[in-house]
Amino acid sequence: MMKATEIIYSVVVPVYNEELVINECYKRLKKVMDSTKEGYEIIFINDGSKDNTLEIGGNISNLDPNIKVINFSRNFGHQVAVTAGMDNACGKAIAIIDADLQDPPEVILDMIKKWKEGFDVVYGKRLKRKGETLFKKVTSKAFYRILKSMTTVDIPVDTGDFRLIDRKVCDALKQLPERNRYVRGLVSWVGFKQVAVEYNREERFAGETKYPLKKMIKFASDGITAFSYKPLKFATYLGVGMSMLSFISILIVIYQKLFTGSTTAGWASLVAISLFFNGLILTMLGIIGEYIGRIYDEAKGRPQYIISEKIGFDKVINH
Ligand code: UDP
Ligand code: MG
Repeated sequence: MMKATEIIYSVVVPVYNEELVINECYKRLKKVMDSTKEGYEIIFINDGSKDNTLEIGGNISNLDPNIKVINFSRNFGHQVAVTAGMDNACGKAIAIIDADLQDPPEVILDMIKKWKEGFDVVYGKRLKRKGETLFKKVTSKAFYRILKSMTTVDIPVDTGDFRLIDRKVCDALKQLPERNRYVRGLVSWVGFKQVAVEYNREERFAGETKYPLKKMIKFASDGITAFSYKPLKFATYLGVGMSMLSFISILIVIYQKLFTGSTTAGWASLVAISLFFNGLILTMLGIIGEYIGRIYDEAKGRPQYIISEKIGFDKVINH
């Protein structure tokens, strides 16, 4: 009788409108994973693509028993897709990688080596980033450093979700029910033995980035609000500082009224000050709103994602 191969590695690949990329991604990943000579599965999470990604993924899965596809009912976002992949992975080690081949699949072999040495989290640290706009490079460099200065959790800088995690890390992550997930921060938060492998980020194989500015802002504010209260404290400090300033200015005005008799009438400066403070108050309300919105999301308790179909999950791999 043939023996079912045990799955050692799961590779989680979120895909959103990646019809130009998914085939090449599959080929490169297959080559790398075959070379381990161990059982593996590759899970594509189709995050509500509007192109032919699902059809191509389904075809690959029909031809290759190692390939599985999870199809979301709509676009839930990259971080949620990664989460769904981890929830459905059954390997002893789980790799997370982008579909666009910016993260070279071959690096997974280095990660596996570290994992076999006993590390629980092997994360990829980006040395160079090719083919990305100056704007993206600068904002991302700044973001990782600002986040680091704001939180007590040790989240390594210049690190994406490209990493390999042990089964026990994956199980720990599955116990965290929070929505608006910032996965790379959560992986740092759960702890365990972590190590970096360095790599150069390549250009996207084809197509365009699926992270427009709007998604980048959502991603950055999820990271900051989930791991820091500093923006809220900032509002308090600023409020106290401003009260002190206005107290001093009241004293000055009283002094002028009593001893100099010259109170200057200045509409322009009044309007400017009023605009400034109103702007400040709205900004602070906005910051508080960011947190309240996320509390509301938690309170609603909706599932993080809805799956419309799973392809290839009932296959038994025989060798
Ligand atoms: N992605 C996704 N859902 C989204 C946006 C992106 O699943 O809403 C996937 C995308 O297909 C890719 C990965 O997330 O595999 C990273 O996206 P991308 O390469 O476009 O981001 P960038 O590298 O430009 O930051
Ligand atoms: Mg990319």
